[in-house]
Amino acid sequence: MALHTIPARRGLALAVKKGQHYKVINTHGYQIVDHWAFNADDPREFMSMEHCHVAIDKLTPVVGDSMVTNKRRPIITLMEDTSPGVHDTLIAACDIYRYQQLGAKGYHDNCTDNLAAALKALGVAQPETPCPFNLYQNTQYHAGKGFAYLPTVSKKNDYVLFRADMDAVVAFSCCPQDMVPVNSGNPTEAHVEII
Ligand SMILES: [Zn+2]
Repeated sequence: MALHTIPARRGLALAVKKGQHYKVINTHGYQIVDHWAFNADDPREFMSMEHCHVAIDKLTPVVGDSMVTNKRRPIITLMEDTSPGVHDTLIAACDIYRYQQLGAKGYHDNCTDNLAAALKALGVAQPETPCPFNLYQNTQYHAGKGFAYLPTVSKKNDYVLFRADMDAVVAFSCCPQDMVPVNSGNPTEAHVEII
């Protein structure tokens, strides 16, 4: 077992083998963790939220559901979820443009740059920034009214456990969003445990 820290406002990428399990732990309870997965042999194949919606026939997976790639092949399977199961698969990763639109002056940490840095550290060529699987993100859509960006409903040390279904590079970003209250205004670290 190996415990890895995703530092507050930063990213992390790790290589996992087919069949390996990993936990994404919400250490402090209210942090969104953007999650991506890429085929280790060809990063142009990656976990795709749009394709997952068709594969699982839901907006977010439940235990036993496999998330799929843009080639519709299983890449990770949700094995356990100790949180209330509220996650998001619709909202793009935050980026400098989002923060500028919100009124940020100068640079603001963001999940898009965190993914790029994390993959670069592993020497993985990044094809694009896929829509992330936003673990613990509580964004609710109300027909006719739009999205409500709400604080997480997870608790300290809640975790989701995944199994890799192919050799993969899995990446994470502790979302630094502090201009919309999705991280309760205080972005924190989280942890990944490879089992
Ligand atoms: Zn973010």
